[in-house]
Amino acid sequence: MGTTHVPIVQRILNANDQIAAQNRAKLDSEGIFGINIMASPGAGKTSTILKTIEALKDRMRIGVIEGDTAAVTIDADKIKAVGIPVVQINTGGGCHLDAPMVADALQQLPLQELDLLIVENVGNLVCPATFNIGTHANIVVASIPEGDDKPYKYPRIYQGIDVLLLNKTDLAPYVAFNTDYFRRGVEILNQNVNFLPISCKTGEGLDRWADWLLQKAAH
Ligand code: MG
Repeated sequence: MGTTHVPIVQRILNANDQIAAQNRAKLDSEGIFGINIMASPGAGKTSTILKTIEALKDRMRIGVIEGDTAAVTIDADKIKAVGIPVVQINTGGGCHLDAPMVADALQQLPLQELDLLIVENVGNLVCPATFNIGTHANIVVASIPEGDDKPYKYPRIYQGIDVLLLNKTDLAPYVAFNTDYFRRGVEILNQNVNFLPISCKTGEGLDRWADWLLQKAAH
């Protein structure tokens, strides 16, 4: 009986992937580079997005999609306050964004006026990993206080990512976090990952992150 669930799940993923492909085609036709930012709650996704906007707003036209499980607009308001077009997706408790949600959000953004689309996924290290939303690159923001064992406990999310931003390096003197152990855990799962330690508080590493985005978006 249990096996009957397998084809159903597969069909849902395929429908999602079809719409993800449409999202990708839309971004491509508008010349937009899209990134999907995933993390556990509190790792610093919104802070990283705000710092990214600060670093790049004179060189790229940026738009943001904010995924949240509730109708609170705390994160979206922060983005709006710095003058960036933002659309919030309320998943109604859902633990991840999917491609149809992002397709709806894309219709509400001025795509002709954008070079970079940043999608903040729902804070969760499990569910977002399995849903392609059509962006060009997947990013995980990890942070020092979360602990260095996360790649070993939540392997799936690290497997397809392009960049691992290790945030809150300013807290390293106060927290027992073995960076080599953490990094090894990520690199066992993903040999091609760009590992970038950053601090949204001190600004450490953010120039390298901005350079990576500029370089990728130019292609
Ligand atoms: Mg946030």
